[in-house]
Amino acid sequence: MIRGYVQRTLSFLVIALVALLLQSCYNEGTPRAVILVSIDGLHPDYLDSLYTPNLLELAANGVHPAYMEPVFPSKTFPNHYSLITGLYPANHGIVNNSMYDPDLRLSFRISNREAVSDHIWWKGEPLWVTVQKQNRTSATYFWPGSEALIHGQRPTYWIEYDSSLPHGARIDSAMVAITRSPRPALVTAYFSAVDSRGHDFGPYAPETREALREIDGQIGNLIARLREEGLEDEVNVVVVGDHGMAATSSERVMLLDDYIDLEEVYITDLGPLGLLNVKDSARLESLLADLKKMPHARWFKRDQLPAELHYSGNTRISDLVGIADEGWQMASKSRFESNPDYYSGGNHGYEPWHPSMHTVFIAHGPQFKQGLQSDGFSLIHVYELLCAVLDVEPAENDGNLDEVVHFLQTETD
Ligand code: AMP
Ligand code: ZN
Ligand code: ZN
Repeated sequence: MIRGYVQRTLSFLVIALVALLLQSCYNEGTPRAVILVSIDGLHPDYLDSLYTPNLLELAANGVHPAYMEPVFPSKTFPNHYSLITGLYPANHGIVNNSMYDPDLRLSFRISNREAVSDHIWWKGEPLWVTVQKQNRTSATYFWPGSEALIHGQRPTYWIEYDSSLPHGARIDSAMVAITRSPRPALVTAYFSAVDSRGHDFGPYAPETREALREIDGQIGNLIARLREEGLEDEVNVVVVGDHGMAATSSERVMLLDDYIDLEEVYITDLGPLGLLNVKDSARLESLLADLKKMPHARWFKRDQLPAELHYSGNTRISDLVGIADEGWQMASKSRFESNPDYYSGGNHGYEPWHPSMHTVFIAHGPQFKQGLQSDGFSLIHVYELLCAVLDVEPAENDGNLDEVVHFLQTETD
């Protein structure tokens, strides 16, 4: 009887050991991975069965919150870098697409190659650095920040931003990366066409819908290619936008010249936002008082913006910050008169809580629940979420996994 008991216990132990070994081999053979695709300027209202069947299918089989709220300002560089660091712009340093650092005495513009590849601008730890520190690799077929040596590192594989690179080539590059051995933890792709059309023609224009159809086709292409490689159930695909798009009109433009003498300020940005540095600090209060006469906008001194915008404590934030009402814009008289049509179409940058500024989050794959539709959430939590998906230790950040843990298959992930 004792022999029988020992035999049974032994065979149980052997089975348990084999199961454990198989499990660990399986885990080793399938390192966790995310393909993160950004569709710039993707608004939740854009999703419909006619133009975005592939995105909708991905959403139906994965996680699809009602919307994702961007961070302020609702512009491309601040939001992409918040997505990948979990930090608010004031904390990651990219406080706008255009900015001036008074300590460095340097200006930043997204079209300035030298600036975007200079590490001095980029604070915090992007996800590619997080995974590389933990012995995984990464590949970016565009992401703001990927061209700079941050913490002494760029993504393992990266290329210079080239807006003319065909969309299909971006997916090809992502597929080459994800089939590499060892498999990268993070592969990114980026598409600007929907945002560009949204600016030129407006959020609900047929031209914008056509761009949407084309990019949705690329998502379909990516899913089909993953399926062919047998990776559909091994690799997580996360599609995000960075902000939405509000309809604008040359009839809703306020001219800065009508309120202040432009000779008194340096203009860092004008549009949905007015970012001004004052030449003579003694004139600050008086200029602010004059700007406050502007209708359809709110003007603040640096560090006096509403706390919920998390936009304070960084000297790159200009002396005076104006925020136009949704759909309104600011311009200088000369710029406006030289091309009034430029101001009709769409724009973004407004406060994140405007529904028009909301964007999209869709996630599908082994680590995500299937068919989960949830409430809207903030983009600030995406870095924490992706660290949990990849099973890597996050760097310090402003996000909170508790806000998004219900997206995951195993909530303890
Ligand atoms: P925004 O108007 O704020 O949405 O900015 C969109 C523009 O950012 C697009 O027209 C892109 O060409 C540009 N852009 C996006 N990613 C990058 C990058 N990594 N480097 C330079 N420009 C970029
Ligand atoms: Zn954008
Ligand atoms: Zn844009």
